Amino acid sequence: MGMGKHVNRRRRTAAGERLYDHMVVDDETECWIWTGATNASGYGRIGVWRDDGRCTNAATHRVSYEYDIGPIPDGLQIDHLCRNRLCFNPKHLEPVTPSENARRAKSAITHCPSGHPYSGDNLIQRKGRRLCRECRNIYNRAYIARKKAERG
Ligand SMILES: [Zn+2]
Ligand SMILES: [Zn+2]
Repeated sequence: MGMGKHVNRRRRTAAGERLYDHMVVDDETECWIWTGATNASGYGRIGVWRDDGRCTNAATHRVSYEYDIGPIPDGLQIDHLCRNRLCFNPKHLEPVTPSENARRAKSAITHCPSGHPYSGDNLIQRKGRRLCRECRNIYNRAYIARKKAERG
């Protein structure tokens, strides 16, 4: 481990400590909610000094994870188990692969685009995809009606 890494680590630690200056704790969920700057996607941003002395922005949940738990393995994303993008409680954060993260984001969607629930009898599982039975029935009825009309 070289000198550069050591300096970098100290700077990251400083950013980690500054997180607590802009935080409210949700008593019910135990989410640590960031009250500082955010980006367009609704994630918290915090200024971090880079090795070259310039300041850059980093995602608060990533800074928090590295400060509290350790380096995030290369190529992994940090998933919010609580689904609250502003939360930086390390207990609510888990490093996952981008494909696992996308899968989880999808399964967080509980209703089809028409508002029918993806649950119980209405849920059809096919090749890892979730389909809405109600929507399929609507589609099938329309299809049958069209075919009948074509036949005259
Ligand atoms: Zn949380
Ligand atoms: Zn539907």
